[in-house]
Parts: sequence; structure tokens; C-alpha cells
Amino acid sequence: MATRKTTTSRVTRKKPRTMPRTAKARTGKLRVWGGIDLGGTKIEAVVVDARGEVLGQARHPTPGKGGPGEVVREMYGTLEEAAISAGLATPRLSGIGVGAPGSVDANHGTLAHATNVVADWEKPYPLAADLGDLVKGRVVLGNDVQVAVAAEYRLGAGRPYRSVLGVWWGTGVGGGLVLDGTPWRGRGGAGEIGHMVVKPDGALCGCGRRGCLEAYAGRASMERKARKEVHRGRRTQLFDIMRDKGRPRLSSGVWMTALQKKDGLAIALIDRAIEMLGAAIASAINLLDVEAVILGGGLGTRLGPEYAGRIAESMYPHLFIPERAPLIHVAELGDLSGAIGAALLAEPRM
Ligand SMILES: [Zn+2]
Repeated sequence: MATRKTTTSRVTRKKPRTMPRTAKARTGKLRVWGGIDLGGTKIEAVVVDARGEVLGQARHPTPGKGGPGEVVREMYGTLEEAAISAGLATPRLSGIGVGAPGSVDANHGTLAHATNVVADWEKPYPLAADLGDLVKGRVVLGNDVQVAVAAEYRLGAGRPYRSVLGVWWGTGVGGGLVLDGTPWRGRGGAGEIGHMVVKPDGALCGCGRRGCLEAYAGRASMERKARKEVHRGRRTQLFDIMRDKGRPRLSSGVWMTALQKKDGLAIALIDRAIEMLGAAIASAINLLDVEAVILGGGLGTRLGPEYAGRIAESMYPHLFIPERAPLIHVAELGDLSGAIGAALLAEPRM
């Protein structure tokens, strides 16, 4: 990533699932990397070449039972399947990267506070060493959103720019920064735009603090608010749509359908989320003056360009230099950005 950007790599949303084309022949001499995106509901694995092109992929559900050890075994199984679909064996991989939610210690290869993966995963667990033993190779860890933003920067919507802010709008609101060609990780915790304060002493956030952006825009917070409103007697189709779709939660698809049906509560909560996103992103722009914002995450990609435009509008009044408003793009790599970004993490050029 510190090197100059390549313009030849091309993995776009229109053509993301490049499946193995006689991968065996192609990878005879080429170096290939594995990437795993560890999520609360699914584990996504890819095998990519040095240009970031996807040679194989696989997806498994995250095990609901068992501890971190069980999760690591499933990660290995998913990666093995991705490697097989690329016509390879896992020991053939030059390196493996993992993007994970929670608190990543890249130097020690540990993951802590990954409670949306395993309910009691609080203490640091030696994920890199454990998975490394199974794959018999080097494993590098990174934050899930930061690696997804790095992938968009190098191969997706961020390609034309030197500096970008990624905003991942989903269950929570994550973020990632690339400043003048360098992924900015701070001391490991940079980019947490979801916990920027948009209203002092405001709504309670999942992090336990008050007034964070995520407390207004995160899907989990919006669902809590919607349930509270229903309890108070407000009518909404949100939960009927959820049941019709057979979902346990208000997924991005549920919100999308409710908006299409012009559900009053869904519109009000999404409007409020957009207002808060605009304020937080504009504040970040006033501080960093990056060239572009990339909008990703389940809601961000599902709601797409129309809502990205609305966020740009809500950002505008807060911009100190409005005539240089950054462009907001929707992420291009779709569901695979996390796994591709993880693979890039293991690649020495990063
Ligand atoms: Zn918070």
C-alpha cells in the first residue's frame, strides 16, 4: 500500500467473483495469497494473485457453538475450500491475512473483544498462531473495516485518490483511513468514526457511551429504537417485513423494503441516521480534508448511490470549505472487499 497505486488491477463489482480459470496453470509460478473475512454470521475466504484478482472463494457460516478454537477450525476449512476452488492446496499460499472485528493486536497476532463472533470472546486469543499451525504458513491480522477500505483504495472505488475515508454503515458504523497512500491505523484504533460524538449526552451507544454516531446510525441501534417506538404504540411494517423475510433481525434488506413501502418509522430513523452521518463525516473532512469518502457496509452498499447522495447533502452545511466537498462513492468490491483486503494485508507490498 505504501507503493504507488497500480491502475492495472481490476476487480469491480460488476465482475467480482472471478472463479478459477485453469488456476493450476496460471499459478504454477505466480505467488498467491489467502484472505479471510471473519464476521459474526459468516466467514468469507478468497485466494488472490498479486494483482488482487480473485482465483477462488468460499463462504461458511460462523459456528454458533464452541469457542475461538472452533471458529479457527472453521476459518481453516473455509480457506481450504477457497484454495481447492482455485486449484491449489493451502500450503501453496505465500501468506494469509485475516480481517476481524474487535480489538486486533497485529504485532502479537491476537484478537480480543470479538463478542459479535463468540459471545464470551473477550480475552486476547492467539488467532494468528493457531490458524498458522493449521495452514502451515504465516498469518497476519488486521481490523475488518480497515482492510476492506484498503481493498477499495487499491482495487475499487478509491483507485483515483491518494487519501480517502471509508465509512462502513452496517450493524455498527466502522471506518478506515488511507492518508497520502498510507493506511492510517494510529495505534491500532484509528478510523472509529462510529464513536465520534454527534450529540453530547445523546442516545446510548452499544459501546456504553452516549451520543456516538453509531447510537443513531448503526443498524443495531436503529432496531433498538424501532422496538422502543413499537412498544410505545407506534405503527410500522418493519417487523412484519422481518418476519416475512424469515430474518431474526432488521437486516439491511428489511430496511430497504420498508423504505420502498414508505414506512413512516423506517423513513424517520433512516433520515435521522443520514443527518448524523452527514455531521460526523463533515467533521472528519474538516479535520483531514481527504479527497473522497467511500461508503460501504451492509446498509451503505444496499442503499447505494441515492443514499450516498443524501449523505453528501446532509454533510454539506457542516463543511468548512463547502466548495471543495469530497465525492462520496459507494464501495465497488461488494461482499468480498473484506476478504480481498485481508489477502492484501499478507502481501509484502502492503
Ligand atoms: Zn460508541
